[in-house]
Amino acid sequence: MGDTIEADFIIVGAGSAGCVLANRLSADGKTRVLLLEAGGDDRPLKELSQFLSNMMIHIPVGYARTLKDPKVNWLYPTEADPGTSGRVHMWPRGKVLGGSSSINGLIYIRGQHSDYDNWRQLGCEGWAWDDVHPYFRRAQHQERGESAWHATGGPLNVSDATEHHPVSDAVIEAGVEAGLPRNDDVNGADQEGIGYYQLTVKNGRRHSAAVGYLHPAMKRGNLRVETRALANRVLLDGKKAVGVEFSQRGRTIRATAKREVILAGGAINSPQLLQLSGIGDGELLRGLGIPVVAELPGVGENLQDHYILTATWRLKPGTISVNELSRGIRFVGETIKYAFRRKGLLTLSAAHIAAFVKSRPELASPDIQYHILPANMDMERLAAKGDMQLDSAPGLTIAPCQVRPESRGHIRIRSADPAVYPTIVPNYLSDPLDREVAIASLKWARRIAGQPALQGFVQSEMMPGDAVQTDDELLAYAQQTGGTVYHPVGTCQMGHGPNAVVDPQLRVHGIENLRVVDASVMPRLVSGNTNAPTIMIAEKAADLILGRPALARAA
Ligand SMILES: Cc1cc2nc3c(=O)[nH]c(=O)nc-3n(C[C@H](O)[C@H](O)[C@H](O)COP(=O)(O)OP(=O)(O)OC[C@H]3O[C@@H](n4cnc5c(N)ncnc54)[C@H](O)[C@@H]3O)c2cc1C
Repeated sequence: MGDTIEADFIIVGAGSAGCVLANRLSADGKTRVLLLEAGGDDRPLKELSQFLSNMMIHIPVGYARTLKDPKVNWLYPTEADPGTSGRVHMWPRGKVLGGSSSINGLIYIRGQHSDYDNWRQLGCEGWAWDDVHPYFRRAQHQERGESAWHATGGPLNVSDATEHHPVSDAVIEAGVEAGLPRNDDVNGADQEGIGYYQLTVKNGRRHSAAVGYLHPAMKRGNLRVETRALANRVLLDGKKAVGVEFSQRGRTIRATAKREVILAGGAINSPQLLQLSGIGDGELLRGLGIPVVAELPGVGENLQDHYILTATWRLKPGTISVNELSRGIRFVGETIKYAFRRKGLLTLSAAHIAAFVKSRPELASPDIQYHILPANMDMERLAAKGDMQLDSAPGLTIAPCQVRPESRGHIRIRSADPAVYPTIVPNYLSDPLDREVAIASLKWARRIAGQPALQGFVQSEMMPGDAVQTDDELLAYAQQTGGTVYHPVGTCQMGHGPNAVVDPQLRVHGIENLRVVDASVMPRLVSGNTNAPTIMIAEKAADLILGRPALARAA
């Protein structure tokens, strides 16, 4: 490879969004697309140095390993966070083809229709629910078949879990007893209620954006994928993006883009790369000796994330929860089942049951999401050694997060060196509403666990535990124990105001030929997990970039 490369489009980052773009923009077989990825290939045989790590990507429960595996994970530490007992939180992000979709918990959620209507209300023309629903559909292959809400034939496989657990069935019954509607499609007409999650899994294997979109497109001669390629900065000619400088195996390489540069490095890297390129808050950049090309104070601001709490119960001896299936002879049985039938424990996602609940009955829609799993961590081991292992006795976890937090943090570079991680300030629970909903969410978890349907299984509450009863005690528990659900967004927010970074066409304000297309452009966090919404954003962006008319609204 020479030291310059020419392409029509350069995409930085092969994550959920970047894989979609690489596929859609190169689909005509002619347009030259260069995709730069800081991590390696996700296929075990293509990357022998990380064969085992890559194996773990494709076996669904492997996320328990990739979650802390630096071979495929950036593992960003946050700053000490005052609202959560001054703790440093660890933020995993995928560093491999597929990005975070290669290491995520496999849950398929779109959010509420009103999330997108709110984006539109904030000034994002073309991003109301009726506008984005066709793009969720275009992305999707729904194994349940076509319906008013779902489509078949798209690149991203969406399936039901291969097995349901008796404790999980009882949790759903308990939720109904607690007053929630049974909801078998939380991605359909209405999100409220309790039911099983659907997963981005196909035939028992992870269906990441790399598997669904990128691998098939890599056969095209006009798509060039460079792995181990860290973008250092956007090359600018005045206020026009003309290429990207990147480092690869000790060399610095320049790539030029005839048409556009598209940043898809995710909610941490896209603002970092803009700042490194002189686009951001002037004072921050000047302080680091970076010449200011465009004053955009919103770059890196408006950081939002879901903050998850954990409530756990000890189940009665003899109950089979995931804890028992994960050890000894039962685990051997599950492994054999997986090897021959691609079913069972090894195909399961990070949570099995979804519940979307209103913290107050007068709300228009749910503001709490529960991730529920018939399993629990060994908290003593976690506290003593930082080691995440399932408990040896049977357990149940009901983990809530507020879906539309008001707290805002930020991401700012601390050095002009692209290899230095930026400061990440989450500011969890800094807004009073978030603290209020955290308390309500723990009470609701207890309400579900206390229903008759679970009494045959539940022995006692473990966490927060009987000593934690008052609102102050519940809040202290939330502050001391919660953590990320891995959904940072908003750091290059779309819109028109002084803090907007991109316009509704996802073009960086004030700079020609430069877009951001990833989770960072969401002006507000959606009410649910963020992989499917990010893929939707990239599907729609592909049409915007290619100048194609928007898909017609679904009938
Ligand atoms: C552990 C975990 C669990 C999650 N669980 C779920 C879930 O169950 N369901 C769900 O819907 N969502 C989940 N999410 C969130 C979801 O996966 C992300 O929101 C989504 O993947 C973000 O997509 P993205 O394209 O914005 O960024 P990413 O997918 O993170 O992609 C960014 C890519 O850019 C690359 N990159 C970054 N900087 C550079 C650079 N300078 N040069 C070159 N390449 C670069 C990265 O290596 C990465 O491959 C989870 C996330 C994590 C981390």
